[in-house]
Amino acid sequence: MSYWWIIPCSIAVILFLRFSFRYAWWATAVDYKNPRILMYHMISDHKNNAKFNGLRVTPEAFEQQLNWLKSHDWNFVTMSELVILGNTLPRKSVALTFDDGFEDNYTNALPIMQRYGAKGTLYLVVDRHKRDWSTNKKAHHNSGELMQEPKLTDTQVTEMLQSGVFELGAHTTTHPNLSQLLEAEKTSEIAGSKQQLEKLFQTNIGSFAYPFGIYSQDDVRVTKRANFESAVTTEAGISELNTNNLLELKRVKISGKDNFFAFRMRMKHGQRGLRK
Ligand SMILES: [Zn+2]
Repeated sequence: MSYWWIIPCSIAVILFLRFSFRYAWWATAVDYKNPRILMYHMISDHKNNAKFNGLRVTPEAFEQQLNWLKSHDWNFVTMSELVILGNTLPRKSVALTFDDGFEDNYTNALPIMQRYGAKGTLYLVVDRHKRDWSTNKKAHHNSGELMQEPKLTDTQVTEMLQSGVFELGAHTTTHPNLSQLLEAEKTSEIAGSKQQLEKLFQTNIGSFAYPFGIYSQDDVRVTKRANFESAVTTEAGISELNTNNLLELKRVKISGKDNFFAFRMRMKHGQRGLRK
């Protein structure tokens, strides 16, 4: 008897297990009554040898995602609508969120969103120009790559808000690592950014995003005191909305390194595979 098939079969099994670890196609979907809050940064082409291409979703991929959402009856909501509607949100609601304030949100994302009738929430850093905040997370992130990336001007932000596509959320004044700040500094970054943005853009700011997703229960309290109705983290997943977790909402990370199958896995259960 010959056993030639053992090796190819073992390879096939290993590949299948690897695939099933990377893409959790077998996991059940999180209840579609729970909204998906998607986290984007840049909508732009990848750069050669760049460290942060995961933050760059190409315009083509973004359009494919919106096209899929629209044709599969997803209902686009802003973060304030998500809070107002709460448990009466339609099934399959999706909130697109954009962190930091990169210029391509205006040049690339806005026209695509208009084409698909999508809406989004922009978590804007007040003092965002020529600032290298990536070192606030890890000192070795000092390449200046994100610092050199053009940021939205106030005029562009105004136009985005007037288009009715975007609403504004706060993302602190300087994008600090909140864990390194004293209480008064936290308040100035969190409550201060809300006041500055409201004054500058004459709009209500109801939602906040923790920089780098680094936050503690102290920060949640400061955010609550600053009268934010909702706050988002970078913890991957899909939160069930209730009054206790509105200031610690999970998000579905949309990575520029993902393929479209991974996007659909993330929409289904908040993560691509077993670990992320
Ligand atoms: Zn950020």
